Amino acid sequence: MRLGIPSGSGLPGSVIWRPYSMVSANYDDYLEFFSILVPEGAFSSRLAASNIGSTLFVEKQPYGYLTAGRFVGGRHLWLLASGTGVAPYLSILRDPDVWERYEERVLAYSVSYAREIAYRDALAALAADELLGANRPPLRFVPIVTREVVPGTLGARLPTLITDGTLEREAGLALSPEDSRILICGNPKMLDDVRDALVARGLRSDRNAIPGHFATENYW
Ligand code: NAP
Repeated sequence: MRLGIPSGSGLPGSVIWRPYSMVSANYDDYLEFFSILVPEGAFSSRLAASNIGSTLFVEKQPYGYLTAGRFVGGRHLWLLASGTGVAPYLSILRDPDVWERYEERVLAYSVSYAREIAYRDALAALAADELLGANRPPLRFVPIVTREVVPGTLGARLPTLITDGTLEREAGLALSPEDSRILICGNPKMLDDVRDALVARGLRSDRNAIPGHFATENYW
């Protein structure tokens, strides 16, 4: 959905809008968003400086196609993220419908440095619990740190991990057109490279007219 902040230009009704993914679950009684702070950025710096009582607009009409319910078939939901692209998955993974719909859920989350891993506690809880009473195994969480060696994480980029089979080994599940439905969110170049790696494995993009196996969202 889009968030808006008064531009401060003095012109009546002048608002700066930016698309954001919701981190909060669809049943939470609050809205949570996750943003990088762009130094002197027109939107994020104003957002960071806002406080209780500041004006923030939330567009009523949500948009975007990165939803787990969009796919036909499949038993395993794979969520692939780089950087802040993890944000929508926090919401998706706490949606009871997703736990009902998919027997297994995998989150592979790639950052350059370990300190950039966000939502550690929420992800640890999802990976430790049988959440929501859906009688499903816990989330299979695969953290990836690409620019330093960190025990318990993988150390290569997602396309490499897909191509050489490491991601499947670590997740304990195979990627296949029959079973896998995959969402990919983050760095636009990462999306291109992951798409290529998945196509090479016989998976195809999900389209309205032709159901497929993966869908992507550019995060900036
Ligand atoms: P990032 O550069 O996207 O890195 C996150 C992870 O993605 C790292 O593990 C990185 O690996 C990996 N990666 C990068 N390119 C890849 C590719 N082609 N294939 C596979 N994996 C790839 O980091 P970020 O912190 O999310 O974003 C970096 C910059 O992007 C920010 O500093 C910001 O300027 C911009 N950004 C802008 C917005 C916006 O809304 N305007 C939002 C997010 C980010 P490596 O460590 O090997 O590179």
